[in-house]
Amino acid sequence: MTSRILEARHEVDELNPCYAATSHDVNFLALALCGEVGELANKIKKRWRDGCVTAGTTNDDIRDEIADIRIYLELIADQFSIAGEKLDILATSKLRRVADEIRAGKRK
Ligand SMILES: [Mg+2]
Repeated sequence: MTSRILEARHEVDELNPCYAATSHDVNFLALALCGEVGELANKIKKRWRDGCVTAGTTNDDIRDEIADIRIYLELIADQFSIAGEKLDILATSKLRRVADEIRAGKRK
């Protein structure tokens, strides 16, 4: 079963072949993910620097960058067969492992 994010991306891919050409290229996707993380960090940095919400750093602007990150992460996850709910399960499992390691004194 494909995720809602992948379904929506497929719609975009059908409208623009440039998007379609990169949807399965994990090298491109990894760089795109880094670019979006940089955009998010830059917006948060500007809010921190300016001490207030300014143009381009509203909560909606930041939410938009988070959405961009989620899209690229989902496309990368799809290349490794863990998109959608599978990724949620994997991330939850990983956090539970970390909690177990903290309880066992193997990790702080
Ligand atoms: Mg962006």
